[in-house]
Amino acid sequence: MSVDIAQNLGEIKSEIGAKATLVAVSKTKPESDITQAYNAGHRIFGENKIQEMTDKHENLPKDIEWHMIGHVQSNKVKYMAPFVKLVHAVHKMKLLKEINKRAKENERVIDCLLQVKIAEEDTKYGMNADEIEALLKDERLENFKNVRIKGLMGMATFTDDKEQLKREFSSLQKLYHKLEKQEPGFDTLSMGMSGDYKVALEHDSNMIRVGSSIFGERNY
Ligand SMILES: *Cc1c(COP(=O)(O)O)cnc(C)c1O
Repeated sequence: MSVDIAQNLGEIKSEIGAKATLVAVSKTKPESDITQAYNAGHRIFGENKIQEMTDKHENLPKDIEWHMIGHVQSNKVKYMAPFVKLVHAVHKMKLLKEINKRAKENERVIDCLLQVKIAEEDTKYGMNADEIEALLKDERLENFKNVRIKGLMGMATFTDDKEQLKREFSSLQKLYHKLEKQEPGFDTLSMGMSGDYKVALEHDSNMIRVGSSIFGERNY
């Protein structure tokens, strides 16, 4: 089956318009696929493994904006700190501290999102609402001049049950709007993937992370 990457991108972009930023999730896909999307004008790509993202960054045009969308281990932050644009899945203070340290070494400011656990299933990382609010109030944050917390990210349960997706996204939507009023830097709500981005957009997502609907199914 052949996949028309440029056409898929065009269709999704015209569907979302100016409502949301599209992160093209290129994990496991070859650099030639990214080049096709790049040649179609796309610049924002998401990866979930630091090593893979770092290799692709090395080999591909330098005006690509790389987003780390996966779970991050603190000991690997140093490899992406020179170039990563946005870290979507910050799940604890210790990780934020390490990102700040490595950003500072590179004389950069790295944008971060806090991952909220919204899925009713138990397999996903992330903080609950109380943990997020506690982190945002933590006075240590004042010293972290090299990270900027821009908003929240969440992953819904992998399900076709629309009512469940709505419940999960609406919990994140509410938390986002509450915090947005308190946190001056908040402007990003990252939620929605190939299977559920339409529902996510109905719940005020302004950044969607779409892989297989652009690049085709992944063979792990
Ligand atoms: C893989 C992945 C995506 C994209 O998934 P698709 O279903 O292929 O669109 C989005 N977000 C995260 C965190 C991912 O790991």
